[in-house]
Amino acid sequence: MYNLVIIGAGAVGLALGHYFQIRRGWKCLIVEQEPDYGLGISSRNSEVLHAGIYYPPGSLKAQLCLQGAEILYQYLELNGLPYRRCGKYILAAEGSEERLQQLHDQGRANGVLELQLLQAGALRKIYPELAPLAALHSPGTGVLSADSLMHHLLGEFRAADGDLALNTAFGGLEGRAGHFELNMVDASSGGTNALAAERVINSAGLGALEVARRAGFGYDAAGYELRLCKGSYFSVPGARGKFGHLIYPLPTDAGLGIHLRVDLQGEVRLGPDTEYLPGNTPHYSVDAARAAEFKSAVAQYWPGIAEFAIEPDWAGVRPHLYIEGVHHRDFFIRNESAEGADGWINLFGIDSPGLTAAMAFGPYIARLWGEPDDGSG
Ligand SMILES: Cc1cc2nc3c(=O)[nH]c(=O)nc-3n(C[C@H](O)[C@H](O)[C@H](O)COP(=O)(O)OP(=O)(O)OC[C@H]3O[C@@H](n4cnc5c(N)ncnc54)[C@H](O)[C@@H]3O)c2cc1C
Repeated sequence: MYNLVIIGAGAVGLALGHYFQIRRGWKCLIVEQEPDYGLGISSRNSEVLHAGIYYPPGSLKAQLCLQGAEILYQYLELNGLPYRRCGKYILAAEGSEERLQQLHDQGRANGVLELQLLQAGALRKIYPELAPLAALHSPGTGVLSADSLMHHLLGEFRAADGDLALNTAFGGLEGRAGHFELNMVDASSGGTNALAAERVINSAGLGALEVARRAGFGYDAAGYELRLCKGSYFSVPGARGKFGHLIYPLPTDAGLGIHLRVDLQGEVRLGPDTEYLPGNTPHYSVDAARAAEFKSAVAQYWPGIAEFAIEPDWAGVRPHLYIEGVHHRDFFIRNESAEGADGWINLFGIDSPGLTAAMAFGPYIARLWGEPDDGSG
């Protein structure tokens, strides 16, 4: 019998396995329906290590983003993994400066203390090509390689005797008495087998509500749904090395806005936009016809984009959680003990900053389970 089975081998599932297997010494199994780990949301995102500015004080996103960023920076540094604490600027047009001030105050209330407001035009000393807009500087924001992170987490997890089962989908929950009897489906043959676990964490990303449904939890009846919101990216091959910072517009209701992202190699990408997917079916092709829309959004803060060719790059899909038709903007983490399933945790709506927060979920869940403090924060 496993002490813990984790459903989903994305950044969150791998970080959970790493934490419980290594820090807690539990025997863990991570099950993943795909033929490899990390093929879901975790390999299709901006790879930004967020500082914790965007989330209301007291929210899980604020708490886990800050804790996660601290743990993650230490982990990346300690293990020689690629990252860059490059910093970012959030820009606001004349008349919207108040919104920057709000973000500044919210960030500080969350504990992001090194934020700095810049007057309109001050940024032009660093980037003359940017429009003269007011800016909020977040020096603690960074970029990382999600692939390297996941690869390293998995390597250490396996070295510590953790198990990973690929091509293995959670099919259903057969029994809850004392421990969980899980039904697993071999994704290639369709064959099934049974697994016993003392505890389970559902960290299945886009599939998390479906997993909860198969386990018999009544979220559908309670009006929970995951609305899939695609974000596309375009690359700007000619702008390589032109920017050293991340450049963001003000966030919108649906997302953080089409930003200018610089990766570890200095490549510039624009995105992601927001597009709710009809039929809630994920797909990842990027529509070249959106190029004009991207250019016009970015021209608000970088007029020079007009001179550059942009190319469709990749897309990711966010699992936006709606409860009775209302967007639940925070992470949703529920200990299902009240449902007679003591030891089962459901994670829903783990969208941005889920990559940044990944390493903070384990300590948080350990606390939910009443495990003794291990000093992880
Ligand atoms: C466009 C975009 C940009 C983003 N930018 C950032 C950013 O810059 N910074 C940041 O911090 N966060 C960002 N995020 C959010 C971040 O990428 C996610 O929060 C994080 O990757 C979620 O990880 P996960 O492990 O929960 O999900 P996933 O990586 O999707 O892993 C879940 C896994 O569960 C598996 N699964 C599903 N159903 C089953 C089943 N029945 N049985 C077995 N396995 C199953 C899936 O195959 C998948 O591999 C972004 C997200 C998007 C979409």
